Amino acid sequence: MLDQALAAPKKELEMAAQIYDIITVGGGIAASSLAKAMAERGAKVLVLEREKRFKDRVRGEAVVPWGVAEAEELGTYRLLRETCAHDVPYVEGGSGLRDLRATTQQQLPLLSFQHQVMQETLLEAAEGAGAEVRRGVSVERIECGAEPAVVVDGHSQERVPARLVVAADGRGSIVRKWAGFPVREQINACYMAGVLLTDVHASTETCYAVFNPELGTWFGLFPQAGDRFRAYLVYPKNAGCRLQGESMLDLFVSESAKTYAPLADYLAEVKSVGPLASFDVSDSWVEHPYRDGVALVGDAAATSDPTFGQGLSFALRAARVLRDELTSNSDWEAAGHRYADEHQRCFHACHTVQGWLRTLFQNPSTESAALRAKAMPLIVEDPTRVPDHILSGPDLPLNAQMRARLFGEC
Ligand SMILES: Cc1cc2nc3c(=O)[nH]c(=O)nc-3n(C[C@H](O)[C@H](O)[C@H](O)COP(=O)(O)OP(=O)(O)OC[C@H]3O[C@@H](n4cnc5c(N)ncnc54)[C@H](O)[C@@H]3O)c2cc1C
Repeated sequence: MLDQALAAPKKELEMAAQIYDIITVGGGIAASSLAKAMAERGAKVLVLEREKRFKDRVRGEAVVPWGVAEAEELGTYRLLRETCAHDVPYVEGGSGLRDLRATTQQQLPLLSFQHQVMQETLLEAAEGAGAEVRRGVSVERIECGAEPAVVVDGHSQERVPARLVVAADGRGSIVRKWAGFPVREQINACYMAGVLLTDVHASTETCYAVFNPELGTWFGLFPQAGDRFRAYLVYPKNAGCRLQGESMLDLFVSESAKTYAPLADYLAEVKSVGPLASFDVSDSWVEHPYRDGVALVGDAAATSDPTFGQGLSFALRAARVLRDELTSNSDWEAAGHRYADEHQRCFHACHTVQGWLRTLFQNPSTESAALRAKAMPLIVEDPTRVPDHILSGPDLPLNAQMRARLFGEC
C-alpha cells in the first residue's frame, strides 16, 4: 500500500528518471530494517552495501528486551526467531537469576543470533519486501540538499538521486562527515575483547553480564543457536596488553575467571570458532541526526559503549521511528527533524544512565569505592534502585531522584 505521505510528492518526482524515495548507504541491521519497513509501505528503496557476503567481525549479537519490542514492531522478531535467532529469558548479573519476561517493562526475553547471519536474513527480507539491494557497491560521495544523491564507485561514477539519503554505514561513518554533521566523542577507558566459543559448560537459557568493580572489568556471555556462545571481556586500556589473536585465548579465559569466578568451570574446555579481537568502546554521536535530506541511523547516528549492549536496539528503534515519521508526514524535511529529536532524547536517556552505572560498577578508583560502600547495601535490599533503562529502554522516566536512589542518597 502506497501511503499518502509517500504518494503526494512522489508523483512529481516520477517525472525525473528512476528516482528513489530512499537510498541507504550500508546494508546492516539499521539499513535493512528500514528498507524492509519502507518497501512494505510502498516506498521505492535502494540499499547499497559494500560487502558481497557478510563475515564474522565480532559484533553485537544480543538484543535487549526494549530492542526486541522494536523488532516486533518492525515485524522482524518472528522472522529472526524462525531463521537464526533464539530467545534468552534469563540474565545473571552476579547476584541471582533475573527472569526478563517477568521483570522488564516489555515482558520480553533477550534475543541472540550470529550477527552476520542476522544481516543476511534481514537484507534478504528487505529484498523480499521490494527493496532493490546492490551488493559489492561502495558509496564514494553524497550530495545533500533538496534533492540529495549518492555517487557510487566504478568507472561511470554513477550518481543516483533520491528523496532521502539514509547513512547507515556504521561505526566511524564517513557519510556523516561528508554531510557535515558535527560529531561528539566521549573517550572511555576500556577495550572490549570478544570471541565466539564452543564447548562452554553453561545454560543456553541464560546470559551473563557481570561487573567486577575492584578490577574495573565486565564479562558477558551470550548463548546463540546451536552450541555457540559469544564471550566478551571489557578491561582497562592500561592493563598492559591488548587481547587479540587465537594465542591469547587462554589469557582471555583466565582474566574472565578473575572477573567472575564461576567462569573458571564454564570456560574450562572452550574452543574458539572465530577471531579473538579487541575494540575501543568509546562513544561517538551526532546530536541531531538529520539535515539537508540526509538522515543518520544505527551506529552512524550514535556508537555507544557495547558493554551496555544498546547498539542493535538503537538501530531497530531508529528504523521504526523513521518509518513512522516518514509514513505519517508528507513533508519529509519535517519528518527527518522529528526523527532526529526523538533519537536525541532516547540516546541521552541511555547515555546518562550508562554514565551512572559506569561510575558505580566499573570504576576501580577510591572515590567510586566510597560511592559503592554507601549504595550497595541499599541496592541489595532493593534492586529496583538500579534504573532499568539498559534492559527496559529509554522510555522509562529519567530524573534526579533516580540518580539519588541509585547512589543511595535518598
Ligand atoms: C565488540 C562489539 C560488541 C557489541 N555487542 C553488542 C551487543 O551485544 N548488543 C548490541 O545491541 N550491540 C552491540 N554492539 C553494537 C552493534 O554491533 C552495532 O550497534 C550495530 O551492529 C550497528 O548496526 P548498523 O547497521 O548501524 O552498522 P553496521 O552493522 O556496521 O553496518 C554498516 C554497513 O555499511 C556498510 N558500509 C560502510 N561504508 C559503506 C559505503 N561507503 N558504501 C556501502 N556500504 C558501506 C558496511 O559494509 C556495513 O555492512 C557491539 C559492537 C561491538 C564493536
